[in-house]
Amino acid sequence: MRVTILGCWGPYPRAGENCSGYLLQEGDTSIMLDAGHGTFSCLSELMDFRKLTAVIISHFHPDHSADIPCLRHAIKGANADGTRSGRLPLYAPEKPEEDYARLRAQEDAFVITGVEQLPVQSGTGYHKLQVKDFAITFLPTVHPLPCYACRITATGKTVVYTADTSWFDELVPFAQDADLLIAECSGFDKDRDKLAGVHLSARQAANLAKAANVKGLVLTHFWPEFDVNRLVAEAAEVYDNVSAAAGKRVIDL
Ligand SMILES: [Zn+2]
Ligand SMILES: [Zn+2]
Repeated sequence: MRVTILGCWGPYPRAGENCSGYLLQEGDTSIMLDAGHGTFSCLSELMDFRKLTAVIISHFHPDHSADIPCLRHAIKGANADGTRSGRLPLYAPEKPEEDYARLRAQEDAFVITGVEQLPVQSGTGYHKLQVKDFAITFLPTVHPLPCYACRITATGKTVVYTADTSWFDELVPFAQDADLLIAECSGFDKDRDKLAGVHLSARQAANLAKAANVKGLVLTHFWPEFDVNRLVAEAAEVYDNVSAAAGKRVIDL
């Protein structure tokens, strides 16, 4: 499986860079996971958007969803000029209702399914999705908007993406033994109280990686004013195999 970072900043990007987005690829299958500010432009540098297989949106904060309308117009245009046919499958939370209604107004480009409408995995109760070789399960996170972390498996490799979340214990079994954990890291541990209920600190992301016994940790979702090297250093005090997300960084598993 190939993971390409489309953007790693939240809630606004650094100059010339992008907010949250990740491209997951295996064979002919390409899934766009989150579509924050600037990610459509980055995706278009890397591949023909017409060849996307599906889009998954973790939640409706703009740094994860702002570029959906770009993709809508691109898909509509491609369908109209005959360079593509059919609407693109898109999966997103059904709440908040007003955001979901705005998304549903874009059904001329997308076949939209609420994550809550997906079948449930026996045993865990998590909603699950199969897109070609990709098996994906969704864990509701702790965040001001309904949001889902994703556990993605293809050809024997597993990536876990925390999306936006505060610490809660269920993250640990959800991320257990993953080959790669992409964890949000919105600040330093000294600000843990300010982050509570919304985001993880670098140290908490590392605690998750260690407790879940993952093989590697990539930190992401950085506040643009913070020193990313210092965030990585804080995480490295807890967990060794840690690095920072960066636009267009490619990780092959
Ligand atoms: Zn965010
Ligand atoms: Zn958010």
